[in-house]
Amino acid sequence: MMPTAIDVLHAVFGYPAFRGEQQAIIEHVAGGGDALVLMPTGGGKSLCYQIPALLRPGTTVVVSPLIALMQDQVEALHQFGVAAAFLNSSLDARAQSEVERDFAAGKLKLLYVAPERLLGERCLELIAKANVALFAIDEAHCVSQWGHDFRPEYRQLTVLHERFPGIPRIALTATADAPTRAEILERLNLGGARQFVSSFDRANIRYRVVEKENSKRQLKDFLAGHKGESGIVYCLSRRKVEETAEFLNDNGIAALAYHAGMDAALRAHNQQKFLREDGIVMCATIAFGMGIDKPDVRFVAHLDLPKSLEGYYQETGRGGRDGLPAEAWMCYGLGDVVTLAQFIAQSESGEERKRVERAKLDALLGYAEIPSCRRRHLLGYFGEVVEKNNCGNCDNCLNPPAAFDGTELAQKVLSAVYRTGQRYGVGHLTHVLRGVDDERVRNLDHDRLSVFGIGAGFDEKQWRSVFRQLVANGLLATDAEGYGVLRLTAASRAVLRGEASVPLRKPASKEERRATRKSARGERVRQSLDIAPHEAPLWDALRATRARLAREQNVPAYVIFHDATLLDMLRARPRKVDELGAIGGVGAAKLERYGVAFLDTIRAAG
Ligand code: ADP
Ligand code: ZN
Repeated sequence: MMPTAIDVLHAVFGYPAFRGEQQAIIEHVAGGGDALVLMPTGGGKSLCYQIPALLRPGTTVVVSPLIALMQDQVEALHQFGVAAAFLNSSLDARAQSEVERDFAAGKLKLLYVAPERLLGERCLELIAKANVALFAIDEAHCVSQWGHDFRPEYRQLTVLHERFPGIPRIALTATADAPTRAEILERLNLGGARQFVSSFDRANIRYRVVEKENSKRQLKDFLAGHKGESGIVYCLSRRKVEETAEFLNDNGIAALAYHAGMDAALRAHNQQKFLREDGIVMCATIAFGMGIDKPDVRFVAHLDLPKSLEGYYQETGRGGRDGLPAEAWMCYGLGDVVTLAQFIAQSESGEERKRVERAKLDALLGYAEIPSCRRRHLLGYFGEVVEKNNCGNCDNCLNPPAAFDGTELAQKVLSAVYRTGQRYGVGHLTHVLRGVDDERVRNLDHDRLSVFGIGAGFDEKQWRSVFRQLVANGLLATDAEGYGVLRLTAASRAVLRGEASVPLRKPASKEERRATRKSARGERVRQSLDIAPHEAPLWDALRATRARLAREQNVPAYVIFHDATLLDMLRARPRKVDELGAIGGVGAAKLERYGVAFLDTIRAAG
C-alpha cells in the first residue's frame, strides 16, 4: 500500500502532527497540483515539498538561492535517511558529475540546485532525461524586483514550465504582501496554482519594547534571562556590532560579530560557528540572517531601530523556528528615530523614495509606542485582521500600560515647541519645560517664555516618553533634514485649541521605573525553555551528547535533534528503544543512529 503524508511525517521525520496547512498543501502537491505557499519563517515550508518528494516517484528538484545553506539542508535530510544532494558552484568537477550520475540514475529523492546552475543547458538536458517528480521553488519572492532579495535568474524560471509542462511546481515564500504575491504568480506563470496563505502570526515569539537608557546594561540584563541560549543582536552600524560583541565577551557571554565590512572568510567562519555550536550570541548588522534556518534561535534583540516593520518582522522571525518560546526584544529611544531620519535625509534617493522611507519609519515608531497588543498591530500592518485584543504574549498584553489623559501634557509640549519657534530638539525643549536654567536657555532668553518651567513635575525621562508618544501619534514631526528639530503638524492645532484630546501611556516616575526593573529582574531568571533546577543535569547531559555527535560528523547540533526533541526526552525519560521512538522528532533513521547514545545518557542520569 502507498504510504500517506502522515505516515511519512511519522516514520521519516518522527513528528507527531502537521502544522497549520501543511497537510492540505502536501496532499495537493503530492497529487500533482501546482501551489503557491505563503507561510511565515519557521512555519514549516520545507516539509511541504519534502514529503511530496518522498510520496511521488522520481526526483524533486529544489531551486534555492542560498548556496551556503544547501549543504546543511542536504545534511539534515541525510540524517533523516533521505537520499538528497545539491548542485552548485561549491562542488568540484568530480563531485558534480557524481551527483549528476545519481540524479540520472534515479537514486535521489531531492536535488537542490542554485538557479544559475539550473538554467544552464547542461542541467536542463539532465532534467529532460531524468524522472523529475516536482519542482520546488524556494524563496520565490526573489522574482520581485521591489524586494531586497531580487535575483534576476528567478525570472527565467518560467523555462521550467515551458519545457516541462507536465511536472507540478510549488513556489514558497515568507514574504506576505499582496503585490509580491501577484508578482510571483505572474513571473513564474503560476496563475493556475492553488494558493495557500497561512496566518503570519508567530505565536511562540514574545514581543517586548523597552525604552533606551543605557543600552549595553539593558542588553546584559536581558541576556541574563537567556543564559546558554543562541540568539541574534542586531545593531545599526558595523562599529556598534564590534563594540557590542566585545562588551558581551568581556562580560562572559560568548558572542561573535558579523557585518559586511568584515573579511569574508572570518564572516563565514563566524556564521558557521553560530550555526553549529550551542549558545552563541551573534552581534550583527542586517547583513546577517537571510536564509539562516537555525531552528533554536531563542531571542532576537534590536539595540537600534530596524529600518522598517517589514524588516523587523523578518528579523524577529528568525527566532523560535522550532516552535519553542522565543523573545523579540527591542530597545529604542528618540535618538534612534533622529538618526534614521538623518540617514534618509542624507541618502541619494529621490524625493518619492524618501517619502516612502519616512512613512516606514513612522510606522515603526507607531509600533514602538503603541499601548495595546503589539502582535495585533504588527499583523494588522501586514493586512491580517486579528480578532483577539489580547495575545497574552507581548509586553503590553502581559502588563497593560495604564491609560491616561495626556491632553494637558500635550498642550504644554506643543506650546513649548511653538513658543521657541519650532527650531529645537527634545533636549532643549525638555529643559525649557522643566525650567532648567542652563546657559543655552539663558542665551536664548527662553527663561522668559510663559512655558518656562510649566512642566517641573516630570523628570527628564518622563518628558522624553511624552515626546516620543507625540511623535508616534503624529502630533509632532521630526524635521526632514534629520537634525532632530521638532515641529508642529497639521494635527497639533486642534490639540492646542483644546478641540482634541490626547490619550497617552502614563510616563513612569522614577520609583515606578525602579519597581519595573526589579520585577523584570525577577522574571529574567527564567530561561526560555523553563528548565527546572532538578532537570538541569540531564538537560546538560542530553545537550552534551548531541554536541559530541554533531562534532563527530561536523554538522550543526540541531541536525541531530532539535531542542524540542531533547525537551521531550527530558520530560518523558524514555528507557527503551520503542519509548524513545515515540518522541517527536525521532524518526526511524535517527532512532537507529542515535538511539543508543541518548538512552545511555538518560540511564546514566539515573
Ligand atoms: P520555514 O522554511 O517555513 O522557515 P522550516 O521548514 O525550516 O520553516 O521549518 C522550521 C522548523 O520546524 C524546522 O526545523 C522543521 O523541522 C520544523 N517543523 C516543520 N514542520 C513540523 C511539524 N509538523 N512538526 C514539528 N516540527 C516541524
Ligand atoms: Zn499582545
